[in-house]
Order: sequence, then C-alpha cells, then structure tokens
Amino acid sequence: MNKPKIVVLGAGLGGTIAAYEIQTAAKGRAEVVMVSNSDTYSFVPSNPWVAVRWREPEAIQVHLPPIFARKKIGFTAVGAKRLHAVEKRLELNDGSNIIYDYLVIATGPDLAFDEIEGLGPHGGHTVSICQTAHASAAADAFDRFVENPGPIVVGAVQGASCYGPAYEFALILDTELRRRKIRDKVPMTFVTAEPYIGHLGLDGVGDTKGLLESTLRERHIKWVTNARVARVEAGMMHVEEIAEGGAVARTHDLPFAFSMMLPAFRGVPAVRDIPGLTNPRGFILIDKHQRNPAFPEIFALGVCVAIPPTGPTPVPVGVPKTGFMIESMVTAIAANLDAILDGKEPTAEASWNAVCLADFGDGGVAFVAQPQIPPRNVNWAASGKWVHLAKIGFEKYFLRKVRKGENEPFYEKLALHVMGIKKLRM
Ligand SMILES: Cc1cc2nc3c(=O)[nH]c(=O)nc-3n(C[C@H](O)[C@H](O)[C@H](O)COP(=O)(O)OP(=O)(O)OC[C@H]3O[C@@H](n4cnc5c(N)ncnc54)[C@H](O)[C@@H]3O)c2cc1C
Repeated sequence: MNKPKIVVLGAGLGGTIAAYEIQTAAKGRAEVVMVSNSDTYSFVPSNPWVAVRWREPEAIQVHLPPIFARKKIGFTAVGAKRLHAVEKRLELNDGSNIIYDYLVIATGPDLAFDEIEGLGPHGGHTVSICQTAHASAAADAFDRFVENPGPIVVGAVQGASCYGPAYEFALILDTELRRRKIRDKVPMTFVTAEPYIGHLGLDGVGDTKGLLESTLRERHIKWVTNARVARVEAGMMHVEEIAEGGAVARTHDLPFAFSMMLPAFRGVPAVRDIPGLTNPRGFILIDKHQRNPAFPEIFALGVCVAIPPTGPTPVPVGVPKTGFMIESMVTAIAANLDAILDGKEPTAEASWNAVCLADFGDGGVAFVAQPQIPPRNVNWAASGKWVHLAKIGFEKYFLRKVRKGENEPFYEKLALHVMGIKKLRM
C-alpha cells in the first residue's frame, strides 16, 4: 500500500524546518515532499545586514537539494503555479501535478509594492530588504548613495505587518553612516503606519514605545506615525498623516536620496482566492491546530497564515508573524500530523507568543510578548549591546540547523536561558 504523501509548500524560514520536523515525526509512515521555487534557502532576518554589506548573500544562504536527499525528503524547486484544493492537487510551474494527502502551506508573503505608486524595487523608487536578492540590490544602491549622500527615508507602509526590520534597518544605516563619518550629511526620517513608535503591530511590548522613541531621538532620526504613503516619485515621498477618524491631519513631502519601505503583505498567487481557504488578502485561514476549517488536510504556518489585527488604528497595521511563533507552528503541525498518521485527532496548538531581537548594528532591543496580543502574562523588553551579539548567535544557530537538517527550537532556548522565563511555550 502507498504511504500517504505530505507536501510542504515553500522552503523558507518555516517550511524548511517543517519538512525536517515532519519527516522525523512521520517515522517512515508517510512520504514527505518539499515543493520550493528555489534550490536556495535564505535566512531572511539577516537581509538588513546584506543591504549594508555586513554579510555577503552567500553567507546567509544554504543549498538545499543535498540536505533533503540525505534526509530522504523529496525536493523540487519548480515552484507551485496553483493549488486545486478540492482535488488535493498542486499544479507546478512545469505543468506537472502532485496529488497530496496532506499539504502544509509555508509560502510566506507576496510583497504588495504595486498597491502604492512608485513603491518598491521593480520599477519603483524605494529599495527592499524583504528578499535576499532585493537586499543585494539595495547594497548596490547604498554604495552609490554613500558617494553622494542625502536624506534617507525608512519605514513601513499602510497595511504592513512587519515593523521590527524597518527599525532595524534605520538604525543599522545610522550605525554604518556614523562608522563612515558621513552621518552629518544624512537627515533621516522614519515613516510608519503604526499609531506610535514601538507599537510594532503588537500594541507595544514592555516599554518598546519609550525604548524606540529614545533610540530614534538619540540617533537624530525624526519620525512620522499614522502615516499613509500616498505615492513615491524619484527622490520624493508623499506621505499623509492620518488622524483618529480617518481624516488627513497633515501632509509631508519627504525628499530622499535612499529609501527602504516595507510593503504590505498578502498571500502568494498560487494559493490566493480559494473559497474557504483564504481571507480577502489571500492569507490562509486556520484553526487552533493550524488546520484549514474547509480543507482539514491543509495546514499552514508562518507569514502566510491569517491573523486579525490587535485593534483598530487610524492606518491599517498588521500583526507580525515572527520566528518564535513560526517555530511553534512547525512543532504543532508535526505533532498533529503524527497523531493523524496514527488515526487520532490533532490536539497540538502553537503558542502565539513573540520573542524578538531587533538589532541596531551596535546594540538593539529584545522583547518577549506572551501572549502576542495584550493583555499579557509576560510583557518584557530590554535593550543593550548584548542584543546585537545575540542576533549574530541566532543567525549562526539557525543556519547551522538548516545545514544539518535538524529542527531544534531556538527561541525557546533563547527565552529560557537568556531571559530566564520558564515554560514560555506552555
Ligand atoms: C527583512 C525581514 C527581517 C525579519 N527579521 C526577523 C527577525 O529578526 N526575527 C524574527 O523572528 N522574524 C523576522 N522576520 C519575520 C519572519 O520571521 C520572516 O519573514 C520569515 O522569513 C517568515 O518565514 P516564512 O517561512 O513564513 O516565509 P519565508 O521565509 O518568506 O518563506 C516562504 C518561502 O515560500 C516560497 N514560495 C512562495 N511562493 C511559492 C510557490 N508558489 N511555490 C513554491 N515556493 C514558494 C518563497 O520563495 C520562500 O522561500 C523578518 C522579516 C523580514 C521581511
């Protein structure tokens, strides 16, 4: 009799370790196959370092096929064109099809640059750090910028759900410009949809408001909150500041010689607009066991899952999905597939906590939010040089486990050992 086939879609931060952990959990009872659209794994959290040449792209990338072969997990880098959920069929970009018994969607975000005129690296005027190739192109633009410095605008646009990397990049740029002794030639502005600095899509964690405001003040970075980017022209960003109730309170025309704005995210085309599977933005609807209610053989993890916002804000602000949450989603899915392969009902639930390190190049802010949405049992933030060192450790640790083909949760260790917080994933 054929073994059931478990397909993992997307070999990013979550999907790669999910394939490893599911293969281990399946204990030979299922065939596990990865459908990726690239042979290469990229460690996305290090992209801001690539954009200032603190890392070469190759240093944060892993060639996956030999690792998957060694682990006896099927692998294709052809990419999925379209999911046909009713037929349990995945149509691939080369015209072939895979029929699955279980599907784990880990496709990350589609980057919605096209929603704002002039935004983004494909024909727009702002660079991106969302993908390693984008960060590499941003490094070329940064090389040109330092020859002829001018104003910088960094931030996250309306509907973005990822704010930490925007703060990181602004402060990494500040560190790099000070090292080059040209910071005095560069007025910097942080532009964000958040209602206040340090909201982070989480309504703040500990005193991230105070910590990040004082950091921006100390480093002479001005800010605009409740910001809606109306359009971007070459060298000029047009920003509307929105009041409670939705009216435009002020407008800002911000000149720039270099700009990085995180876009809003939405679901990738291969899984978008499938009734019952996705919300209107194309994110996968899941229950507390990471399973889609309409198609219970489909699980999802990472940035592609649907999470409601923390609460109303003048400008739409999404909730981030970060490494700790993603690791716990992976572990829950592996445990649930293990149960299902034994003919049992799934019971494992992911913890919806955030444990984050925001690196500023020579320091940083760490925070722990348990649960992610307030009010919380643990609401902790701290800053210091140790955060930068911890982030380097995080990169090394994560890349090592991807290369070794293992999934040993990193964030739990970080939370337990560095911060002394017990039973965070309970
Ligand atoms: C710049 C940046 C920095 C971040 N830094 C941190 C951090 O420091 N700490 C933290 O906790 N979180 C961080 N995050 C948030 C989050 O951890 C990352 O976005 C993470 O990469 C999300 O993992 P994922 O597996 O959901 O998606 P991804 O890592 O984006 O992986 C999705 C994968 O699916 C593939 N895919 C997409 N469509 C298809 C298709 N049709 N067929 C096959 N494959 C497909 C993609 O190519 C990609 O490889 C950061 C995010 C960004 C953008």
